[in-house]
Order: sequence, then C-alpha cells, then structure tokens
Amino acid sequence: MTLALIQSRLSQAEQAAGRPAGSVTLIAVSKLQPDARVRDVLTAGQRVFGENYVQEAASKWPDLRQGYSGVHLHMIGPLQSNKAKQAVALFDVIHSLDRPSLAQKLANLAQTRGTGPALFVQVNTGSEPQKAGILPDALDQFVADCRAMDLHPQGLMCIPPDGQDPVPHFRLLRDMAARNGLHGLSMGMSSDFEAAVAEGATHIRVGSALFGARPAPA
Ligand SMILES: *Cc1c(COP(=O)(O)O)cnc(C)c1O
Repeated sequence: MTLALIQSRLSQAEQAAGRPAGSVTLIAVSKLQPDARVRDVLTAGQRVFGENYVQEAASKWPDLRQGYSGVHLHMIGPLQSNKAKQAVALFDVIHSLDRPSLAQKLANLAQTRGTGPALFVQVNTGSEPQKAGILPDALDQFVADCRAMDLHPQGLMCIPPDGQDPVPHFRLLRDMAARNGLHGLSMGMSSDFEAAVAEGATHIRVGSALFGARPAPA
C-alpha cells in the first residue's frame, strides 16, 4: 500500500474518532526491508521510522540520514542492556523499556549524556510468558521507580496477543496510562491501527501494510 493510502486511512480514523487531524504519529516500521523500499517511502515524505534491531539500524540509518533530513528513529524491538549505549546514540525514542535493569541502565546513560531518548514503557497486556514487557499489576510501581531515577516515560506501548481481539488490550493500556499521568500510547500495527486510533493511540507502528511483506530474520 502506498504511503498516501496509509495516511488517508489514518486521517479517516482520526476523523471518525473525533480526534484532531495529525494527532497520531505514523511510525513506518522498516525492519528487514530492502533499502530501496525504505528510500521510496522517504522520497514520498515519511520521516518517522521504527526499527527492531540495533545492529541493523546502525548499519543502515547513518547513510540514509545523510540523504534525507529530519528523520526520527524509534526503537520498537527488545533492547539488550549491552546495546543500550549504542541505542541511545542512534534513536530518538525507545518504545521497549521493559524491565528494571534496563531502566537503571538508561537512567545512568541519560545522566552521563545530559539527555536521552523519549521513552515508552512496554506493557505485557496479555501477561504472556514468552513476551517482554512489564506485567499490568507491576506497572504503577515501575513507572514510580523510573521517575525516582529521574527517568520520565512519555507513555506506554503494547503488542496484543496474536489471534485475540486487540481492543481490550488497547483499552487496558489507555487506562493504565491515564492513571499514571502518561500521555503517549504506542499501539496499533498493520492489521489493527484504525481500532487503536479509535482507542486513543498517539503512535501507530505500521510495517507490512506500508512496505509489503518482510523477509524473515536471518
Ligand atoms: C514488526 C513490528 C511492527 C510492525 O508490524 P506490521 O504487522 O508489519 O505492521 C509493529 N510493532 C512492533 C513492536 C514490531 O515488532
């Protein structure tokens, strides 16, 4: 699907939800996509991109950023602590703050650098054992612990369980954000972004609908 078509679906969803035009940020998820496709989307005007792997992002974005100004990069995949330093240098936003040890690491890096990327706390809304993220019951305490380290998340992120209606997960995330005074909601992907916009998403993460199917990870 072209960028223009995704943008028009997004505007319609914003309008249908009674939300201001442009209130939702489209993150184009370019992980594993061939550079030619990424360049096409850059040429069409998209500037906000999401990546899952620090290594891959570090190998492709410095070059791409030379050719196109104003790129904002979002880290949306699991972040290993030993890649945190590289990640904070490369990314403008990290959506996968998912454990206390990573919070501590990011807090230390922010202190050293005097600044750091914007952060979303990833919540495991389905309490799935194989999935990363803070469990819903532990979220309020985790946010408080982050703030005590002078780390100030701007919102929450979730990936609802496969094969389930995502809407209850979007609502759960929205309620948890509201009660913690957090404004950002990173939720909604190719198959469900319109539903996420209806539930208050501020950031949607769209990959395959925009770029086409991804090659499998190596
Ligand atoms: C890959 C990925 C996406 C994009 O998924 P699509 O279904 O291709 O839109 C969104 N969010 C996260 C966390 C991802 O890993």
